[in-house]
Amino acid sequence: MRKKINVQLVTISVLAVASTVIMMLFAFYDSFQNQVKDDLEVNALVLKHTGLFNKENIGSLHFNYEKLRVTWIDADGNVLYDNDADIGNMDNHMSRPEIKSAFADGEGSAVRKSKTLNTNTFYYAVRLTDGSVLRVARNASNIWSILTRVLPIAVVTLILMIALCIVLAHFMTRNLLRPIEQMAVDINDFSITPAYRELVPFVTTIRAQHADILKSARMRQDFTANVSHELKTPLTAISGYAELIENGMVAPSEIGEFAGKIRKNARRLLSLINDIIRLSELDSADTRIVMEKFDLLEETQVCVENLQMYAQKNDVTISCEGEPVEVTANRDMIGELINNLCENAIRYNNKNGTVCVKTGSRDGHAFLCVKDTGIGIPKEHQKRIFERFYRVDKSRSKQTGGTGLGLAIVKHVVALHDAQIHLESEEGKGTEITVIF
Ligand code: ADP
Repeated sequence: MRKKINVQLVTISVLAVASTVIMMLFAFYDSFQNQVKDDLEVNALVLKHTGLFNKENIGSLHFNYEKLRVTWIDADGNVLYDNDADIGNMDNHMSRPEIKSAFADGEGSAVRKSKTLNTNTFYYAVRLTDGSVLRVARNASNIWSILTRVLPIAVVTLILMIALCIVLAHFMTRNLLRPIEQMAVDINDFSITPAYRELVPFVTTIRAQHADILKSARMRQDFTANVSHELKTPLTAISGYAELIENGMVAPSEIGEFAGKIRKNARRLLSLINDIIRLSELDSADTRIVMEKFDLLEETQVCVENLQMYAQKNDVTISCEGEPVEVTANRDMIGELINNLCENAIRYNNKNGTVCVKTGSRDGHAFLCVKDTGIGIPKEHQKRIFERFYRVDKSRSKQTGGTGLGLAIVKHVVALHDAQIHLESEEGKGTEITVIF
């Protein structure tokens, strides 16, 4: 970045100096040429009005100016007088462009390259009253000679500009990069504020993303620790029971009971692993979920029907009511959501309690409501029950085959469907969970 800025600044300065020099040169040369031409015209007109150029005077004409050449030509193009050359050697001047136009239009001018390389000769001719033509001429530097004179100054300026640019670029890049470099050391050091307004959104986003990354890393760490802990309990039990049998410490009549305990713990392990796999699938499902249109009531009726046996076993009555309502969602995930909510409503219910599942539409939104007459959730736990492995009553959850992940899966499915979930619960009275699509 530093090198790039340096190179860019130096390039800009070289281009700026070079283009300024060239443009100034052309502008200056143009005005210089005009000035020379104007001066020549004034000289010619002044000389014309002196009235000195007439045939009688010819012998006494004497213009000893070093820089101004004066030539007088008669109407036939022959040179009558020249202050710089021997007229005897001069050819007929009729063909010279400035003289031609002076004879034709009264005045004429021309610029010709000099014998020497660095100068141009400027000519101005004017017709006198007697029909002859008076011409003045002077040498002036041409654009190349001016350029060669300006070049050393331009080169010196260029070198100074490049040196200045390198110094400026150094300070600029240092100021520009310092806050970035400082933040690279510790992005969360809030004492470092970006030096430039444009960097604020960039820094805010990076800080937010960094906080998100840390948070999700911590959550993943916690989850892994929880998973290990949850898996360890049934495995320790299984291993313990098996060891007792292995060492002959269980009476043959009790073996059946022990096998049952082992099976119960193995089932618990299986449901835990299933829920963990499900959660990790949902974690990575964001972009690939297949949506379809279906009737929410119909899907709910199927789930409720499948849970009738489970409800009966727990002495709970489960029923379904409501209106058919179409939703666009992933059918399997919604089935899972209904199942988890209903299972909880049965599991955390009282003897002879009821579960009522309702579907319908409110304010143009489809909803699903699972209401039970169970033990309810104390206020202080209500916020946390959607967390992974969070349980109000650990032993009741475990006894009834809960994994502590059911509502975490529900929350995930709700989020994937851009839906909302509402919980209303009173300890000892019951719970009502509503999902609004
Ligand atoms: P679990 O597998 O333990 O049921 P969940 O994530 O499904 O895990 O639920 C978390 C906790 O929320 C449960 O342990 C329970 O304490 C509480 N809970 C969930 N649903 C209900 C309900 N309908 N009535 C009372 N408590 C509930």
